[in-house]
Amino acid sequence: MPRPKSLNSMRRLLPVLLLVGLLAPAQAHAGNRLFEKSPNLDIARRVQALLLHAGVPVVMTRTSDRTTSLESRTTLANGRRVDAFISLHNNASPSRSANWSEVYHQLSGGGSRTLANMIRGRLATNLGQTAYLKTRRGDHGDYYWQLRHTSMPAVIVESAFISNRRQARLLATSAAYRQKIAQSVYEGIMAYQRTLRRASTPPEFAAETRVTVPAVPPPESVRGRAINSHIVRLTWTPVGGLVDGPVRVYRDGVPIGEAPLGQTVFEDVWAAPGQSYRYELRTAVKPSDLAASLESSPAVVGVRTPPIVVCLDPGHGGRDPGATGSY
Ligand SMILES: [Zn+2]
Repeated sequence: MPRPKSLNSMRRLLPVLLLVGLLAPAQAHAGNRLFEKSPNLDIARRVQALLLHAGVPVVMTRTSDRTTSLESRTTLANGRRVDAFISLHNNASPSRSANWSEVYHQLSGGGSRTLANMIRGRLATNLGQTAYLKTRRGDHGDYYWQLRHTSMPAVIVESAFISNRRQARLLATSAAYRQKIAQSVYEGIMAYQRTLRRASTPPEFAAETRVTVPAVPPPESVRGRAINSHIVRLTWTPVGGLVDGPVRVYRDGVPIGEAPLGQTVFEDVWAAPGQSYRYELRTAVKPSDLAASLESSPAVVGVRTPPIVVCLDPGHGGRDPGATGSY
């Protein structure tokens, strides 16, 4: 039991007691507070784990609760020459009913727009909510710093609304919800990667009737290696004058080209980064008295192309909490 206080000290305490009395019910009504920086970082770490598992290198602008300036984040991405920059956020609106996703792309469009649209589509499907593709012009070009000052395709993902009580609760308490967001961003990045290739047209022989004839010898000692993210070189040993015909190249079952007789190298220049391709090489013969061409059984080789490098930016952090909500 505390000893009786003097009148003076009671007078000093009175305003404090009054203030506590006024604040207590308001706090109880507001419920739990949520700072945007926390789910942003958690989601970024989940995307990082998914990408690393798929062999995609990741640069993080922060991995802990620390303040990072906008400039330091874009300087890092530009300095490391990453191929894609993804800034992960959650939105706030004066309207508490706002509950959709938004993905912003650079004004220049191009790869940024493709990447943004891939992520937008996955968010809509996986979260079962509306997701908008957006861009915004400001006084100096792109409205957002990260989109304006990055030298590679960059997007800003606003996955949900911190200001929406239901979404704030999900962001704060549901690891499954944050994982769904992360999975959507990951799937969007992987889908975007597949678009990073030169367009190809089917080779002429694709239109022919082709019959596999085991008696035709396939190319021997077939090797394949990725020269870079976009070119795969295939080499083989000639079958030695036994067959008078070209070597046909299939990638994942689709005809992509043909090396004329005597040539022992073929470059697939229509490859995309981060892909595991299965190449089939077949020797072909075209008897003049047959409508169909005859092909050997395939010699098979698998090749993996180097993936893109991704920068994940969880934004905010430390003294900068981002948007604040409650649930
Ligand atoms: Zn933010």
